[in-house]
Amino acid sequence: MAALDLGGGFAVTRDAIVATALTGTGARGLASPITVDARLDADASAWVHSLGADAGRRMRSLKQVHGATVVDAGALADGRVPEADGAWTSSARDILIVRTADCAALWLVDPRRRVALLHVGWRGAAVGIIRRAVHALAQQGSDPAALVAAAGPHIRRCCFEVGSEVATHFDKIEGAVNPPEVLKTRTRAGTVSLDLAAIIATQLREAGVRSAATHIAAACTRCSGGMLHSYRRNGQGGPLMGSIGFLE
Ligand SMILES: [Zn+2]
Repeated sequence: MAALDLGGGFAVTRDAIVATALTGTGARGLASPITVDARLDADASAWVHSLGADAGRRMRSLKQVHGATVVDAGALADGRVPEADGAWTSSARDILIVRTADCAALWLVDPRRRVALLHVGWRGAAVGIIRRAVHALAQQGSDPAALVAAAGPHIRRCCFEVGSEVATHFDKIEGAVNPPEVLKTRTRAGTVSLDLAAIIATQLREAGVRSAATHIAAACTRCSGGMLHSYRRNGQGGPLMGSIGFLE
């Protein structure tokens, strides 16, 4: 099927947003298209089923709280939904899933061995979920320098307007905080532009992931022509993008 390149190692087809950056790693990364609201497990499962990805597998949902907890999906009892914003697995039985709308889904793959999937917004980044996830994988024997990282479509610096109380968490990260002129629209005084991609790239590098193996989707959820779900565009309670990761 014809795929539209989203830039940064992602493409979109009618059925899914595809993390092409993970090609050849033995793991798949897919996110739901604008036509799918993945908020509910039943709807997310129906979408996963339509992709033919679920034969003999179990979907591993999380109760996302913008924290830094990363769980071992393979150790969870069936049906248990832990309070966490990331999970990893070494088993091809598990389909990891996170929900986002403006935050980033972040896949971390130790080729042919292990996959992790994280929900990363500014809060999760501020409390260190990326470092925690790389550490969890390293404890299982995955060398951070061998990981492939792919961050899915999220709100880019063109639209990510934040107050100084948010920006202050990231003022030591080069390129993270940008002047308001970077924003396409500004809704209130005293705000700046936050570059979540710069934060993710820096935190991955600090955790030992190679920059050459780090891919970040270029598309902005807020302003990419209504192609992607966006919390800031659609408002609270709006549809969510489901992102899944699994071993082939
Ligand atoms: Zn934008």
